[in-house]
Amino acid sequence: MTRYILGIDEGTTSARAFVIDEDTNVVGFGQAELTQHYPQPGWIEHNPKEILATQLEVIRAALRDANIQPSDLSTIGLTNQRETALVWDKETGEPIYNAVVWASRHSTPVVEKWVAEGLGDLIQERTGLIPDAYYSGSKIRWILDKVPGAQARAEAGELLAGTIDTWLIWNLTGRTRFVTEVSNGSRTMMMNINTLDWDDELLGHYGIPRRMLPEIIESNGDFGSVEATFGSDVRITGVLGDQQAGLFGQAAYRKGLSKMTYGTAGVLNINSGSEVQPIPGITPSVGWKVNGEVSYEVEGVLFSQGKTMQWLRDDLQLIHAAPDSEWYAGQVPSTDGVYLVPAFTGLAAPHWDPHARAAIIGMSNATSRLHVIRAGVESMVYQTRDMVEAAYDHGNGVSLDELRVDGGAVKNNLLCQLQADILGIPVVRPKNSEATIFGAMLLAGLGSGIYASFDELEAKWAVDRVFEPDMDRAQADEMYDGWLRAVELTKGWAKPKA
Ligand code: ADP
Repeated sequence: MTRYILGIDEGTTSARAFVIDEDTNVVGFGQAELTQHYPQPGWIEHNPKEILATQLEVIRAALRDANIQPSDLSTIGLTNQRETALVWDKETGEPIYNAVVWASRHSTPVVEKWVAEGLGDLIQERTGLIPDAYYSGSKIRWILDKVPGAQARAEAGELLAGTIDTWLIWNLTGRTRFVTEVSNGSRTMMMNINTLDWDDELLGHYGIPRRMLPEIIESNGDFGSVEATFGSDVRITGVLGDQQAGLFGQAAYRKGLSKMTYGTAGVLNINSGSEVQPIPGITPSVGWKVNGEVSYEVEGVLFSQGKTMQWLRDDLQLIHAAPDSEWYAGQVPSTDGVYLVPAFTGLAAPHWDPHARAAIIGMSNATSRLHVIRAGVESMVYQTRDMVEAAYDHGNGVSLDELRVDGGAVKNNLLCQLQADILGIPVVRPKNSEATIFGAMLLAGLGSGIYASFDELEAKWAVDRVFEPDMDRAQADEMYDGWLRAVELTKGWAKPKA
C-alpha cells in the first residue's frame, strides 16, 4: 500500500495543498487565491474564515487530483505565513477581528510605546527579535485595544489568540487541539528563545493574558487528528513556519547549512546549531525542534530581490517578463561600472536604513539598458553577499561551504553563476523547487514514522545543478567593493530635515 502525505501550505497570497507519495512524487495539487484587505495605507488583513474555507477547498481539490480519500493519507504536514495573528471567541469560534498580516503596520504605535517604555532591550534579550510591528505579540495587543471589551474577555478566558498554524489546527481538529509550533512561536515576540515557552515577564508588560495563548509544542509533535473535519483519523505530525520549512526542505539539517530564497523579497536562513547566535543585524529564531533537539537559525530579509525585476518590467519597462532579464543581462560582459541599489523602501538586513532610497549610479554615455538590466540582476547577488558576510564574519564557528538556493528567480542561470562568482562558493540549485512545502511534508513523515531519520530525509534532496565559482577573487572583490560604495551613497537619502 502506498503511503500518502498531505501538505498544507497557507501562504500570504494563496492557499495550496499537495499530496505526495512516500517517494516524494507529487500526485495531487490544489491552489486558490486569498483576498487581501487593505483598510488603510500600510495595513493588510485577511479574513480568518476565508483562510479556513479556502484551505479546506484546496485540500479537497488536491485529494481529488490524487484520486484518493482522506482515509488513504498517512499523515499531514503544515506550513504557514508566519507572524500573522488573530483573536477569536473560544465558544463560537468567531474571530473578533480580521487576521492582521505579518507585513502590516497596524501595530507600529504599540511597538513604539513599548520601546519608549524601555522594553526594547528586554524584548531582544528574551526573544532574540528587534522590536517591530511584524511580530505577532504587537498585533494581538493591537486587536485587544481595538475591539471594545476584548481585554476583559481575554482575561476571563473567553478569547483565544494565535498565529495561522494555531487557527488552522484548532479548526481542523474540531477545536480539540489548541497548540502552536515552536518555530512559529519564535516569531511572536512573546516566546523566550532559550526556554521555548511564553515569557511571563514580557506577557505582563504587553498585558496579554497567558491563558489566551496556545501550548507550544515541538515541530514534529502531535498536533492532533483531523477526524472531525475529514471523517478519518489522520494526524498532523509536522508544522513549520514558511522560511524554516524552506530551510528544512533544503535538507539544511546541520549547523552552517543554509538556504537563500529569491522570491519577490529574499530570505537567507542559516542553521546555527543548538545555540542561539546573536549576529548584529540578522535575526536569530528557532529553526525547529525535532525529537527533543532544537536547531536555531539566523535569518535576514532583503526587501527587493525579484521585486527589482518587476520594477524593471512594470515601471521602467526595460523587459517584458522577469525571466527575460537573463538574456538581456547576458548580452553584455559586465555592467561597465553601473550599480543599481534597490533601496526602494529603505535597506533591510544587514544595513537597516529606512531612509535609504534606490539609485542607479556609475552611468556614462556608453550605458545602455542592457547594463542597467544586468545591474539589476547583480544587485540580487551583492545583497546576498552583504547578508552572508554579516552572518559569517563573527567568529561564531559557522562557516559557509555552499549556498542552497530556491524561489522563482533561481531559474535564472546567470543569476546563480554570478552568485557563485561573487561569493566564491558553489551555489547549489536542487531539483525540487518547492522546498517550503516539501520541508513540512518530510517533517510530517518523520513525525509519523514514514521516514526513520534525518539521513533518510537527506537522501530525498537531489541536486539539479551546481554553479561553481569561476571568477578571479580579486575581480569579485573589486566588483563587490563598488557595490558597497554605491550602497553608502543611498543611505540617509530620504531622512527628514531636522
Ligand atoms: P514570491 O513567492 O515571493 O511571490 P516567487 O518565488 O514566485 O515569488 O518568485 C517570483 C519573483 O522572482 C518575482 O519577483 C519575479 O520578478 C522574479 N523572477 C522570476 N523569474 C525570474 C528570472 N528568471 N530571473 C530573475 N527574476 C525572476
